[in-house]
Amino acid sequence: VTDWQGKRVTVAGLGVSGIPAARALHARGALVTVVNDGDDERARAQAAELEALGVTVRLGDGATLPEGTELIVTAPGWKPDKPLFAAAHEAGVPVWGDVELAWRLRGPDAAPWLAVTGTNGKTTTTQMLASILKAAGLRTAAVGNIGVSLLDAVLGEEEYDVLAVELSSYQLHWAPSLRAHSAVVLNLAPDHLDWHGSMEAYAADKGRVYEGNRVACVYNVADKATEDLVREADVEEGCRAVGFTLGTPGPSQLGVVDGILVDRAFVENRHKNAQELAEVSDVNPPVPHNVANALAAAALARAFGVPAAAVRDGLRAFTPDAHRIAHVADVDGVAYVDDSKATNTHAAEASLAAYESIVWIAGGLAKGATFDELVTKSAKRLRGVVLIGADRALIREALARHAPEVPVVDLDRTDTGAMLQAVQEAKRLAAEGDTVLLAPACASMDMFTNYNKRGDAFAEAVRELGAGT
Ligand code: ADP
Repeated sequence: VTDWQGKRVTVAGLGVSGIPAARALHARGALVTVVNDGDDERARAQAAELEALGVTVRLGDGATLPEGTELIVTAPGWKPDKPLFAAAHEAGVPVWGDVELAWRLRGPDAAPWLAVTGTNGKTTTTQMLASILKAAGLRTAAVGNIGVSLLDAVLGEEEYDVLAVELSSYQLHWAPSLRAHSAVVLNLAPDHLDWHGSMEAYAADKGRVYEGNRVACVYNVADKATEDLVREADVEEGCRAVGFTLGTPGPSQLGVVDGILVDRAFVENRHKNAQELAEVSDVNPPVPHNVANALAAAALARAFGVPAAAVRDGLRAFTPDAHRIAHVADVDGVAYVDDSKATNTHAAEASLAAYESIVWIAGGLAKGATFDELVTKSAKRLRGVVLIGADRALIREALARHAPEVPVVDLDRTDTGAMLQAVQEAKRLAAEGDTVLLAPACASMDMFTNYNKRGDAFAEAVRELGAGT
């Protein structure tokens, strides 16, 4: 337990994590200075509010370490190679992120954390987990890199039995002493490498989620890198490695047998070697990567002692967030599906694997990705492709290399209205029984404010299509 009275703390970054952190530390008697790169109108308004409390704020200078700093609490997105952190390292000043701060400020009887990370599927799995825990009658919430911040959850009035915590690789990087009850790394694929510096550094930060786990380290049997991270982690005695698989589960695994989700890791009845949890059709939507998410959520819940019936009830009660494999409409026997949240190639690969015959709408900002593997793996499912957005040439070239027979319509547009034309072109390419799938494999910011707006534009275009027929 830290004595905060008079401690000189520098909070790096105004914003969703910085402001509550500054307030919480100030309230505990720390001498808080907030440093912020930006100096715009919004920052000035936020600064004025903090200054009124007695917090010092330096706008337009996030690089200089304030004199006498004993601890930095940083916004998770700040890159580790920033000069501020070099100066901190030099001076022997520790750096915590928002998650580390929440972990340290939580009370002695605080609820344990079930932690979820991975390249894709974090939000969905965390929400499924919260739904399962609720079905078991536990007081819980989905928090972290998701609606509610950890600091708010930990310091708020509400009491919890257990928290379902989504953690990004950035948050894990800055959370050295976090010790979860149990945790999962859902999958590992290259993402955010510019921030972490290398795939190894990215994986190492994800792997931090297993450090000090007490009951179970849950890994993906189909993704060996996640199992390697479990092996490298330093965990509490008695903590088990538990795998999840879409195939038949081995001992200490959860998997699928004849359309049933089955647990062979946490079996209550000693005369049985497997416990049935739910049916695949209880998962919404029941596409393979989402069944994997359900198994991961079930594994964490079971590690916490949740009975099988609550897993089933929780999965049935779960509805996915918008723009994640959302079925928009059927028009003339063609299904239109919005997976605008597929903002990287690994996510798009999962959604393309969920359908047999696809007209694929893709493109946007590639963020340094290459598309050869994605196109190679998906080629046989593609009826046609419609390309939009700034980096569409990268996808077009990969298609020419690996799927030259697939018809491609390159719209050569980056304006918002391009989505309507894209959907019209997709309709032309599609045959009855096909799926028109928006799974861009790219970020949206070249054309839209965010992936939500991109998905909304798609749904709007599909509605116009339906109205016209
Ligand atoms: P995150 O919070 O990690 O971004 P989401 O649950 O919001 O994950 O899902 C984002 C997208 O990733 C989905 O729209 C889907 O395309 C893809 N996805 C979801 N789960 C998985 C998974 N287990 N493996 C691969 N891709 C996935």
